[in-house]
Amino acid sequence: MAVGQLILPAHCAACGAPSPPDRRWPLCEVCGRAMADLLTRPYCPLCGRHAGPHTSGPDGCLFCREYPVLFDGAVRTGPYEGALRTLILRCKHEPRVGLGQVLGRLLADRLALVDWADRIDCIVPVPLHWGRRIRRGFNQASVMAGELVRAAPACRGVAARALVRTRPTPHQTNLPASRRRRNVRGAFRARRGADLQGRTVLLVDDVMTSGETIGECTRTLKKAGAAEVYVAVAATADFDEPGPW
Ligand SMILES: [Zn+2]
Ligand SMILES: [Zn+2]
Repeated sequence: MAVGQLILPAHCAACGAPSPPDRRWPLCEVCGRAMADLLTRPYCPLCGRHAGPHTSGPDGCLFCREYPVLFDGAVRTGPYEGALRTLILRCKHEPRVGLGQVLGRLLADRLALVDWADRIDCIVPVPLHWGRRIRRGFNQASVMAGELVRAAPACRGVAARALVRTRPTPHQTNLPASRRRRNVRGAFRARRGADLQGRTVLLVDDVMTSGETIGECTRTLKKAGAAEVYVAVAATADFDEPGPW
């Protein structure tokens, strides 16, 4: 696929209803309104989780002050619900590049608003294990990363292969909090020769739930020399037990 080429669906990317072609987003009237509402929900600028206007500040929210995150800041499109959740699930179940591009473009708009966006010089998608990538055809996070470049003016490109997933890991959502950390510990490594020294990296994924996967990727990137790691996710989801990261 050529860089910058957009394959936008002719139907609503969330519910599949016909969508007028002149709209900014390929979403129908109903889903477009629902998405606009989700974009306004406040979140913590440090950990990316839901936060009320008075429960978070530049030094984080009640949650991440108790369980500090390893990354340096986060941006998200919205909470994992409604039209956004439907769009993310469609991306997983009918993997089409165009749907991932819609997710990436929604997130790029949000990224352009944060004050650290112009410091990003390298974008790294959370990798899939190769077995899963072959079954799916491509990595959704890589497609999203490609759309984020335009919102990061100093970025020299997507380092799609900087991180390697060394073993397949069961889906985090099916595991109790106590096992999530063990599940991902050591599951990633930086590729030999990946130029991460002193870099300000943007780590990209579709959904952040417990944060263990993002946390382990951050640890790996910093161990490989990254100076700062910021996180961009399409959605953050609530999870049952907020165990330490
Ligand atoms: Zn719709
Ligand atoms: Zn927070």
